[in-house]
Amino acid sequence: MYYTAESYVKDFMDGIIARNPGENEFHQAVREVVTSLAPYIVAHPYLIDRKIMERIAEPERVIIFRVPWIDDEGNVQINRGFRVQMNSAIGPYKGGIRFHASVNLSIMKFLAFEQTFKNSLTTLPMGGAKGGSDFNPRGKSDDEVMKFCQSFMTELFRHIGKDTDVPAGDIGVGGREIGYLFGQYKRLRDEWGGVLTGKGLGWGGSPLRPEATGYGLCYFTSEMLATRGDSFEGKTVLVSGSGNVAQHATEKATQLGGKVVTMSDSNGFIYDPDGIDAEKLAYVKELKNVYRGRIREYVEKYPTATYYPDQRPWCIKCDIALPCATQNEINEEEAKMLIANGCTCVAEGANMPSEPGAIAVFQEAGILYSPGKASNAGGVATSGLEMTQNSMRLKWTPEEVDAQLHRIMKDIHEACVKYGKDENGNVNYVNGANIAGFIKVADAMMAQGLV
Ligand code: NDP
Repeated sequence: MYYTAESYVKDFMDGIIARNPGENEFHQAVREVVTSLAPYIVAHPYLIDRKIMERIAEPERVIIFRVPWIDDEGNVQINRGFRVQMNSAIGPYKGGIRFHASVNLSIMKFLAFEQTFKNSLTTLPMGGAKGGSDFNPRGKSDDEVMKFCQSFMTELFRHIGKDTDVPAGDIGVGGREIGYLFGQYKRLRDEWGGVLTGKGLGWGGSPLRPEATGYGLCYFTSEMLATRGDSFEGKTVLVSGSGNVAQHATEKATQLGGKVVTMSDSNGFIYDPDGIDAEKLAYVKELKNVYRGRIREYVEKYPTATYYPDQRPWCIKCDIALPCATQNEINEEEAKMLIANGCTCVAEGANMPSEPGAIAVFQEAGILYSPGKASNAGGVATSGLEMTQNSMRLKWTPEEVDAQLHRIMKDIHEACVKYGKDENGNVNYVNGANIAGFIKVADAMMAQGLV
């Protein structure tokens, strides 16, 4: 059958929607990728004959399981656990675990699908996966989180392993949760290995893994800005979220000369026109990582800042926006507001934070815009470096890891430029990331036969 790029996308997406009904986030992620890839795929008909895209969009394995646990009041609680093992063509499955009330199969599949391309982009040998649970850690005691993690791992452990599938953290899963998950895995398997990344520094973790996603995001953003002879120096920056990625993006953007004026959580955002400097960020880290408080408490400590309940930060004037909270957190209207207020660069720290309408606005305006799978790949890349250190039974210095992270982010940027530059010399980072990530996975799948 003869296809144009448009008719290929239409046929392919009709099939995806019919086969995965109601999975809106998954449809959204697949549509973005297949739209970028269609010209390349129709120019290489063997990819159509061998149904490479159909295979990439079908998980190799999906595990869904019951997670029973008992809360501090003695009540029985039941959550649902997931692991989507999407693609292992170029390495063992790799991807984070998310604990959030919104977790469902569609979100797990979109994240695992994105992860396949992202991991390929890092240049390291890692396949794509994602996992999680609809467990909401907010308001739970340490003991409840531990009991939940132990129950979750009691099923998951039989499906993962250091050469099979190596999970990491994501929303709601940080150092504390990785510790509990690792402890239970070790107990069940009677084996100490690099089966999870994001471990503590004293027990197999890599220097800079906690910082890596946010730092990598800023390294990538610096590369984007440099294509227009620009930098973070003197720029006003909006950050959303106040978790792992947001904290370290704020830290690095500030170190590079930017002034970060917002942070948020799911209840609202704070605007600090004086900038969230190192001292204020130390307070946010303590508030969020130790006391597990809410971002509104920032204005009690720093009264010159303002708290905006139930709002997102995109109405504030800025030069650079770094969305670092969650998927679909910038809509078309908010994208227009950013452009009208003079924003010239949007680099995604979160996965799929921009809705399709927002991406179209950024691209039509000709501003610098990069998708999460390119700009937030520093986290998984450093997880790959943690796996390497675990296999070698060595630990590198923070400087060594930072240098490798910086190099990887530059390489990813270069790959995006190579595959995403259009006839006018502008870089479409969406196309660049998707095509560069795809080619390696597709070539490996072709070489390995129909498996
Ligand atoms: P954290 O759990 O540490 O922080 C998440 C932050 O986002 C919190 O401030 C949280 O607020 C906020 N948030 C979560 N859900 C929503 C929502 N529905 N609306 C508004 N705010 C929300 O997660 P991470 O920082 O690790 O992850 C953030 C994003 O970055 C995610 O998209 C993740 O997939 C992506 N990412 C993370 C990587 C990592 O290494 N950790 C690697 C690559 C991507 P609240 O406290 O109210 O829930």
